[in-house]
Amino acid sequence: MIAVLVVQGGTLPAGADEAAAEAGGQVVLVGDGTGAAADALRCGAEVACWEAGAFAPGRWAATLAPVLDAHDVVVLPASPDGRDLAPRLAAAMGRPLVTGTVRVDPAGAVAATHGGRVHERYVAREPFVATLEPGCRGVGVADLPAERHVSPLDIEEPDGGEPDGGGHAGLDAEILAVTPPDPAAMDLAESPRIFAGGAGLGDADDFALLDRVAEVFGASVGGTRVATDSGLLPHSRQIGTTGVTVRPRLYVAFGISGAVQHTGGLHDPGHVVSVNLDASCPMMAMADLALVADAPAVLRALAEIVATTPPGATPPRATPPGATPPRATAPRATAPRDELASGGDPGASSSADAGAAGSAAGGTGEGR
Ligand SMILES: Cc1cc2nc3c(=O)[nH]c(=O)nc-3n(C[C@H](O)[C@H](O)[C@H](O)COP(=O)(O)OP(=O)(O)OC[C@H]3O[C@@H](n4cnc5c(N)ncnc54)[C@H](O)[C@@H]3O)c2cc1C
Repeated sequence: MIAVLVVQGGTLPAGADEAAAEAGGQVVLVGDGTGAAADALRCGAEVACWEAGAFAPGRWAATLAPVLDAHDVVVLPASPDGRDLAPRLAAAMGRPLVTGTVRVDPAGAVAATHGGRVHERYVAREPFVATLEPGCRGVGVADLPAERHVSPLDIEEPDGGEPDGGGHAGLDAEILAVTPPDPAAMDLAESPRIFAGGAGLGDADDFALLDRVAEVFGASVGGTRVATDSGLLPHSRQIGTTGVTVRPRLYVAFGISGAVQHTGGLHDPGHVVSVNLDASCPMMAMADLALVADAPAVLRALAEIVATTPPGATPPRATPPGATPPRATAPRATAPRDELASGGDPGASSSADAGAAGSAAGGTGEGR
């Protein structure tokens, strides 16, 4: 087995380590900045790097197909880039493609279907290509290689690697510009910041408020099944065992109890903030900052604070008269900590240090 990981600007895709571990440490990195990506990869004993430039799935598939042919199973993370390259690779290699798997082995794969409720076993009768869902497998100590060998991939493009595709010209769309992702539209699985709403947000007005506040904080909006079932959010925004698996650096839960089916989709969040009237619900227990407060009122207070703040700019600090100004911390794009604790006075009381949330919101190096 071998894992193929698409690298863009030296950044690994979501699920890179899991795919590398599933392939037993045999990895091909392809794209731009593969050296930096090899350094960042934790799993992977034999890493071959092909510095292939900007994303060109058609050209890459045609060139990689003969090189990968010796491997019965080729696995890619089901990240956006991986989902783009995998079918082209399968077609170029003349193999079946198994998508949305949670486990892959030489004898076949297990795919999660029907919203994750059914696990279907694919029994391989021939070599195949598979995509592995990020966040399902995880990696353990046993997956970390004792030694790492990184080398350039021994590959020869029929066109000599011309950026316009040369011999494989016409296989790819021409990239005119790469724009930053829009948090409102991006795949939740990739989102570094998520503001999520649950039954504690009563109606469409509350969710409109959540949208507005999330936009200023550069966050994507998600929610519980209660929110999606009642039509307040599209199903693509449902986080949980039957929704999307997410791995954000910052997760802010408004009126969410933290049922296991919801938190099952929340993998290794960097920092969790929870706003809830029930101080002892599971979501509050797992929060770094737990605010016992009315969630719609907190959102209204935040909306007032950010009303005059254009997206991407730093909201003004709201230190009440006589209060001690907040400690100086590293620069950050947004300032949820002090405003949540004191601004607008929605009756909030903090039960944990909120510094984590502030620094997470202003963090850099958020993965694709
Ligand atoms: C097979 C199966 C699969 C499922 N899959 C998923 C899934 O993928 N994702 C998912 O999310 N759920 C899933 N569920 C549903 C899950 O079990 C819970 O019912 C759901 O997550 C609860 O959503 P909630 O937290 O919004 O609502 P509730 O559990 O009703 O919690 C609402 C919370 O809001 C708080 N609250 C109320 N009013 C306020 C207020 N004014 N201010 C602040 N807080 C307030 C309450 O204290 C409570 O903690 C699944 C269930 C089943 C059976």
